[in-house]
Amino acid sequence: MYCVILVIMTLEILDTIKESMRHALNSPFYRNHFSGINVEDIRTQADFEQLPFTDKENLRNAYPLGLAAVPEEKIVRIHSSSGTTGTPVIIPYTQKDINDWAMMFARCYETAGVTKQDRVHITPGYGLWTAGIGFQLGAELLGAMTIPMGPGNTDKQLKMMLDLHSTVLCATSSYALLLAEEIEKRGIRDRISLKKSLIGSERWGERMRTRIASELGVELYDIYGLTEIYGPGIGISCPAQCGMHIWTDYLYYEIIDPKTGAVLPAGQSGELVLTTLYKEGAPLIRYRTHDLTRELSGMCPCGRSFPRIDTLIGRSDDMIKVKGTMIYPSRVDEVLSAIPDVSSEYQIIIDHLNGRDTVNLLFETHLTERPAQESLEKIVETIFKSAIGFTPYAKAVGMGELPRSEKKSTRIFDNRY
Ligand code: ZN
Repeated sequence: MYCVILVIMTLEILDTIKESMRHALNSPFYRNHFSGINVEDIRTQADFEQLPFTDKENLRNAYPLGLAAVPEEKIVRIHSSSGTTGTPVIIPYTQKDINDWAMMFARCYETAGVTKQDRVHITPGYGLWTAGIGFQLGAELLGAMTIPMGPGNTDKQLKMMLDLHSTVLCATSSYALLLAEEIEKRGIRDRISLKKSLIGSERWGERMRTRIASELGVELYDIYGLTEIYGPGIGISCPAQCGMHIWTDYLYYEIIDPKTGAVLPAGQSGELVLTTLYKEGAPLIRYRTHDLTRELSGMCPCGRSFPRIDTLIGRSDDMIKVKGTMIYPSRVDEVLSAIPDVSSEYQIIIDHLNGRDTVNLLFETHLTERPAQESLEKIVETIFKSAIGFTPYAKAVGMGELPRSEKKSTRIFDNRY
């Protein structure tokens, strides 16, 4: 049965949020961002929902340490989100923030059924990025043996995986796919001991999920998080595989309409907005994640009472308008995955030539004969036109020809601006 419940904020949660806001006002950033706002005037959920959002652009303007809400002697570490598109965002952490993050991350491993007996092979990057170190903190707190590989050097990854009998692989979806393909190519699948894989959550298609699961022979878990809010580990899917549980003892979440900012009722898809309840170093109030999802109602069959959000369907800033049509990357995944002989890997390149938008769609296929590829290209163009609304130039390439990345994979390249 499908039922819609409105998100109700209890008085206790409201008090906790107000306390977090009072603390946030110790930072130069929030003193400015909330100027003219009196925390004591916030008496209801509706009052809270009138507060301005915090966006990544705001955080960039607070560079380098404008977000710090504690004196410097309490800051033990900084992390930074990627600076590829401008000024990076610096997030300061206190020891309590690190401990809380480790606790949440250990809970993620437990939810996935990982135990002290496991050997956790960590491939996400270390350094300013929160990925590798977060996976390590949680696994160490749990008491499992960690193998802090970091990304790259496939030969060494596979050697350690074989010699140390890694049982849990932590990776991005595209790196897990690269390793799966390499294991298949080398014919060593019978010799690897992997049982589970925790995949840093981004939007990824069903076909890619099936390939990784079957080629590695593992159970897959989606782990959620972002550098601005601790890092990965603030939520994870469970053995019931219906959405991701979110650790609401540390976070308050809302789902909003990305266009109007209005809070949506449970069940409707929109953008996830997070408020930290106990973060000391850099508390965030109504932070826009730009991740699109929806709240799932009812109890999870696994019995855990933490609320759930659905698998991510994309990012609100990834929606692209081409020839008057909105394209959602998740819709492209869905359309392509239904076409036989088309693999999970593709790239869409949008250009503006001679006054009009052109779209090239490159997809991988195991078909190697050119005539067979040509007829598949025609099929892809026709199906794309009827499902998405315009015709791309489809081009088949061989398996493994499109780049795999160790970070989040980008499949749509918009060269128009
Ligand atoms: Zn569950």
